[in-house]
Amino acid sequence: MSTSTVTDVLPSYACDEWWTPAGDAKGTPVYDASTGEVIGSVSAEGLDLDAMINHARTVGQKNLSELTLHERALILKQLAQYLQANREEMDRLNLTTGATARDGMIDIDGGIGTLYTFSSKGRRELPNSNVIEEGPVEVLSRDGSFLGTHIMQALPGVVVQINAFNFPVWGFLEKFAPAFVAGMPTIVKPATPSAQLTVEVVRQMTNSGLLPKGSLQLITGSARTVIDHLDYRDIVAFTGSASTAHALREHPNVTRGGVRFTAETDSLNAAILGADAAEGSPEFEAFVKAVAVEMTAKAGQKCTAVRRIFVPKGLKGAVVKALGAELDKRGKVGDPRVEETRMGALVSMDQLKDVRGAVQKLVDAGAKVAYGTPESADDALVAEGGKVEDGAFMSPVILDFEDAETPELHSVEAFGPVSSIAEYEDTASAVRLAAMGEGSLVATVCSNDPEVVAEVSKGIAGHHGRVHVLNRDTMKTSTGHGSPVPHLIHGGPGRAGGGEELGGVRAIKHHMSRTALQGSPDMLTAVTGVWHTGAEQRLAGDPEFGGSDKYRHPFRIPLNELRVGDGFASGLRKATRQEITDFANTTGDTFYAHTNDEAAEANPFFPGIVAHGYLLVSWAAGLFVEPKPGPVLANYGLENLRFITPVGIDDSVRVTLTAKRITPRVTDEYGEVAWDAVLHNQNGEIVATYDVLTLVEKENTTYKD
Ligand code: NDP
Repeated sequence: MSTSTVTDVLPSYACDEWWTPAGDAKGTPVYDASTGEVIGSVSAEGLDLDAMINHARTVGQKNLSELTLHERALILKQLAQYLQANREEMDRLNLTTGATARDGMIDIDGGIGTLYTFSSKGRRELPNSNVIEEGPVEVLSRDGSFLGTHIMQALPGVVVQINAFNFPVWGFLEKFAPAFVAGMPTIVKPATPSAQLTVEVVRQMTNSGLLPKGSLQLITGSARTVIDHLDYRDIVAFTGSASTAHALREHPNVTRGGVRFTAETDSLNAAILGADAAEGSPEFEAFVKAVAVEMTAKAGQKCTAVRRIFVPKGLKGAVVKALGAELDKRGKVGDPRVEETRMGALVSMDQLKDVRGAVQKLVDAGAKVAYGTPESADDALVAEGGKVEDGAFMSPVILDFEDAETPELHSVEAFGPVSSIAEYEDTASAVRLAAMGEGSLVATVCSNDPEVVAEVSKGIAGHHGRVHVLNRDTMKTSTGHGSPVPHLIHGGPGRAGGGEELGGVRAIKHHMSRTALQGSPDMLTAVTGVWHTGAEQRLAGDPEFGGSDKYRHPFRIPLNELRVGDGFASGLRKATRQEITDFANTTGDTFYAHTNDEAAEANPFFPGIVAHGYLLVSWAAGLFVEPKPGPVLANYGLENLRFITPVGIDDSVRVTLTAKRITPRVTDEYGEVAWDAVLHNQNGEIVATYDVLTLVEKENTTYKD
């Protein structure tokens, strides 16, 4: 592809087939950012968007819905492994976008890493089904026969990604991963200047044979009319300029038709140096490094890059000097294929023009150039052998604002290796300045003073999607100001677009509908697959308390045969003073409520001496357990333990254990079972409730009867 001519149109992937425009369509050229050489073109002329959207909504939806959340999550891991093993061409194409190999780690490895994270989060934190129940259950009738809960399922439409040029891999995969786990098909439309790399990722993903049909399609070229075809079932996930976002947000299908539109747009992210961080302090050093990294990684073309540097009064000169020295090392600009290059090109000559234009606006507004040469690549910073005449090269620039309140400082985004510096008076004014960005993706607070960190973080949180605190303890371990991690949300209010991406399973849930569900316990159980109190039970055990010898003890039932509602009802067991005293003495828990009659009676909650809660839980285990070797492999914890009615001397307890949630693991021969445990006393009052978590074999393989 590197030596192709403009007639080599990069393909789209529509309805599970590769597609290029018919005839001699030339399309929009795509250039190598460093050499200006044409490496292909994009054109979606004649692409049947209606058919693609219909294909996603029908074939894609159906195929994804036939897999569970865990099965889809597992495919993400396999895709990640496949991409990792077949990345050679991606690495080569990364260089054609002007990005260095190191930048490629942010984009390519970052994208692959996101697949891994969503794969493991999806399997660890979500049920292995197609419905997520979001509790707690609301009891809506006195007798418990009418309940309410919430269910979440994949939205029934398609996600259309309209992406920015700066992260052709990560930008695509960070949106694809949560949509895929949720069960929504994706159509990705990369930005023209770096489309070649997204095309290659999609090519590898389709080559892998792992994708269900209809789950991924690609528009390589302009997609100006795509929203015309969408409705309330669909999502548009946009990344790019605020002006395009505004235009798309005003589409009638968004304003009236209910298309869910999320945007991640311009952001003038701040880095704030705390007043305690004097020159020479570890925080000063960490701050300078962090800002230099942000200015040079991806040649500053990161939505999260630091655009505004706020330092305490009197420290500007020292920070500019230290930052300049750091940039001298990190800012060697040139063709990323040249060894000495530390910073590559901007993505295109158009982008270079835009960035220089933005710098000019900032200079016109009063900024002085404190470092760098905005109008040309600084000779001193050109990597040896790195020809910069033909490419979109720019060396790093620091702009110095005397007046920190200059509106342009807070509103003009130079989307390249450019950052502005200004001083603040006190912590409150640092907060105010950061907020003047009118909504940003991220800010770094660099200080070792917890009070400063607390004041700034709480002050700016409402204006930012993420606050990154940097000090001597985190300077080596921080994942960085500019690196969103898949576990935490990415996005920001106001100018940053108001969207929210990533954030672990939150991002998966963004692709799901949330519906209130009301009905009887049996019906809620049928819909959610989770047993609800009051629903049918098949209990072995004591007939006096609902047990029957018709049923096997649930600990004898392997996972593949176990059904929610299978369980066990024990008989009563009396609590004696001797046992309570023995438990106190052997454990050392001689708290007065278990050992001192007078003090226990004086306690408003207790009738006198009471059994320890942990003693009751231990007795419950003794009451429900089936001791013979069987499919239950381990107990790995309790959840939601509550003690409700105290158990005094000569009171009795019994337990009912019911399989509540069964989660087969897709990668193992066993799965998880959460058992609903309820302890009652001799009067039928509830003593304690909790869930017992166990690992259970799918088949009786370890121990046979
Ligand atoms: P644009 O907003 O022009 O383009 C972003 C994406 O939107 C591209 O895929 C583009 O496709 C598509 N697009 C543009 N217009 C339409 C439309 N009317 N209908 C449907 N799709 C459309 O941003 P740029 O890439 O040109 O970047 C411009 C500026 O945006 C940067 O200088 C920077 O300030 C900001 N930006 C912010 C980013 C962030 O993450 N916060 C990331 C990147 C840029 P096509 O390529 O076909 O035009």
